[in-house]
Amino acid sequence: MPRPLPTSWQVRTQVPFPYEAPVSQKLFDRAGVVTPGGVNSPVRAFRAVGGTPRFMVSGAGPYLTDADGREYVDLVCSWGPMILGHSHPEVIASVQAAVARGTSFGTPGEGEVALAEEIVARIDPVEQVRLVSSGTEATMSAIRLARGFTGRAKVIKFAGCYHGHVDALLASAGSGLATFGLPDTPGVTGAQAGETVVLPYNDLEAVRAAFAAHPGEIACVITEASPGNMGVVPPLPGFNAGLKELCESNGALFISDEVMTGFRVSKAGWYGIDGVRPDLMTFGKVMGGGFPAAAFGGRADVMAELAPAGPVYQAGTLSGNPVATAAGLAQLRLLDDAAYGTVDAVSQEVRGLVARALDRAGVAHRIQVAGNMFSVFFTDADAVVDYAGAKAQEAYRFTAFFHSMLAQGVYLPPSCYESWFVSTAHDERAVELIAAALPGAARAAADATE
Ligand code: PLP
Repeated sequence: MPRPLPTSWQVRTQVPFPYEAPVSQKLFDRAGVVTPGGVNSPVRAFRAVGGTPRFMVSGAGPYLTDADGREYVDLVCSWGPMILGHSHPEVIASVQAAVARGTSFGTPGEGEVALAEEIVARIDPVEQVRLVSSGTEATMSAIRLARGFTGRAKVIKFAGCYHGHVDALLASAGSGLATFGLPDTPGVTGAQAGETVVLPYNDLEAVRAAFAAHPGEIACVITEASPGNMGVVPPLPGFNAGLKELCESNGALFISDEVMTGFRVSKAGWYGIDGVRPDLMTFGKVMGGGFPAAAFGGRADVMAELAPAGPVYQAGTLSGNPVATAAGLAQLRLLDDAAYGTVDAVSQEVRGLVARALDRAGVAHRIQVAGNMFSVFFTDADAVVDYAGAKAQEAYRFTAFFHSMLAQGVYLPPSCYESWFVSTAHDERAVELIAAALPGAARAAADATE
């Protein structure tokens, strides 16, 4: 059964086209019998906002079509990867050509070399790269490598930064300096989380204190290059550079997780914007062109520790899969300066429309931006710089806003703690549809009650 819609939204919002999604609901009910919670990744279940998750059947350009035959302007873009929009003809053609040659060989192939070369060419600190199949695998492997390279166990991460569902990284902690991580989820043992030191984001003093408290014990600091998993909370000026410096002076590795920002916010990801040189970096999403391809890479002397060159084991049956690498390569080759210019311009336009609509409706909000990624915080705070700030927003206003947009054919991330994503395919018509939906959604947000 669907979770009920928040009553404040039901009462107050005029729905311009039928809101029910009976076919999606039927599929969701069916899915719930054979799959926990009816989904294969929790956020898809709409738990944060209620209502029926839309089961999508096709995507074209900036639009998704659901199982009920309704079209939506997509502002999720598969959580980032679809930066050229859905079903881009050149990406599809590359995939079709690759599929026709066979789908998996379990041997090396030229496609994976070409993709690795493309990554190395774009991102200066990446001298060598290893392909994997998901962002989670990339961060898990990067941390293992950092531990193997340094011979140390502890990892510093930041509250609100998500690095996939790696056991050691599914740890959060109460506030406070150098607090040892407590598991966020059953199934992660105290031992797995206990080597993780969770610190408040954007707080260099906390990092300095953690290094002082654990001399010679910290293998690495891992951070989202610019976090997008607590909403968009960019690093304060000097934060990433400060992390790099502290790592260097304490013999630890600096790992920048660019799974979300990599190849999205610029040709060279967040590194292309702030220029802080990590020891290791992780990638996913955009580099797979909508297929499971991800990577980690960085300093050649560190990567040389990886099997079979070195002793740190890492492997994958489908790593460097020929179809995935063909999709990723086709997408990356289309992502030139002009493409990033287009995505940045669309992002700016949509942000402006959102801000105007919310201002007119008198809704306190703050839009935070990282390149072309952005999110809306329903707060009157001047800035959101960490997880505590992100959580302090009026999330119930987002719920009303989200459902009004959905009812009007605009698909937003179903949580206020996620980035919005646009693509080169978001054209004038798509932006007009967003603009038309915003005033009603802003009113719904204004009227919402907790
Ligand atoms: N790192 C970051 C910054 C992410 O945003 C994500 C996923 O959203 C991951 C890692 C995990 O990637 P995946 O979902 O491909 O395992």
